[in-house]
Amino acid sequence: MNEINTVGVIGAGQMGNGIAHVFAAAGFNVLLNDIDKAKIEAALATIDKNLARQVAKEQIAAADATGALARIKAAPDLADLAECDLVIESASENMELKKEIIGALSKVLKKDAIMASNTSSMSITGLAASSDRPDRFIGIHFMNPVPLMKLVEVIRGIATSKETFEITKALIERLGKVMAVSEDFPAFIVNRVLMPMINEAIYTLYEGVGSVEAIDTGLKLGANHPMGPLALADFIGLDTCLAIMQVLYEGLADSKYRPCPLLVKYVEAGWLGRKTGRGFYDYSGDAPAPTR
Ligand code: NAD
Repeated sequence: MNEINTVGVIGAGQMGNGIAHVFAAAGFNVLLNDIDKAKIEAALATIDKNLARQVAKEQIAAADATGALARIKAAPDLADLAECDLVIESASENMELKKEIIGALSKVLKKDAIMASNTSSMSITGLAASSDRPDRFIGIHFMNPVPLMKLVEVIRGIATSKETFEITKALIERLGKVMAVSEDFPAFIVNRVLMPMINEAIYTLYEGVGSVEAIDTGLKLGANHPMGPLALADFIGLDTCLAIMQVLYEGLADSKYRPCPLLVKYVEAGWLGRKTGRGFYDYSGDAPAPTR
């Protein structure tokens, strides 16, 4: 069985920084890549801040936080990931982009390393086919925020080997996370159920059934959800939500998955939620303010 010591993460956005954080905290060396160098710097600052918060809450020791941060290195070029034992692709939710990255990574990554994608919805079999190692390719779908969320969804592509699956399973245990195994169908399990609910909440807003506040309060207090669906959509990123709905709609060819036109409009406007400061809420003030 391959030993995993060094983990590469491609895409230093909100998920990439969380993935780097949990691997480093579990003792792995991490190399963090992004096409935008500023994103790597921002991710390192976020990880530093999140580790400090864990220290303040006495969840980890200060020395462990310092050690974890020191284990994460910037890797601005894909070639920097050549010696990784595992590389997790966590770039934007776009099939062509991911295939391009995986094809380029195949040319530089050592042959026995495992490749994984953190895609929320896209075919692991399709992504694996753009690699040079479909048998050593697997879906490892973390939840947001990665340091806090217990679940990791694992998806085997049609060609994923048993050994790759076993290595992944052991890895997730080492991270202290719980695994749920999903078959490789559009949006897997969690987003197959969650995203139509979020899309329906956006329809409820679009059709004027309720305001942002009424919808989120309704689901929080009426269904005991920790977060309202519109606040959750902003948290996930509206571009990611739309991409997942498109994968469901096209992949399952069922009109019940059609993305709400209001979601499309927000993404067209660049109102992507928390990461751009505006979505269904405006995040420029002290507290999020509903925008509708
Ligand atoms: P994000 O927009 O925060 O980050 C994406 C990052 O990818 C950006 O920093 C961008 O610069 C980088 N990127 C784009 N092209 C690249 C390239 N060619 N090479 C390297 N980096 C590149 O998005 P995110 O929320 O972190 O999502 C990343 C992935 O994780 C997506 O596949 C998404 O579906 C998945 N995911 C998201 C969530 C969530 O709640 N947001 C949860 C689970 C999984």
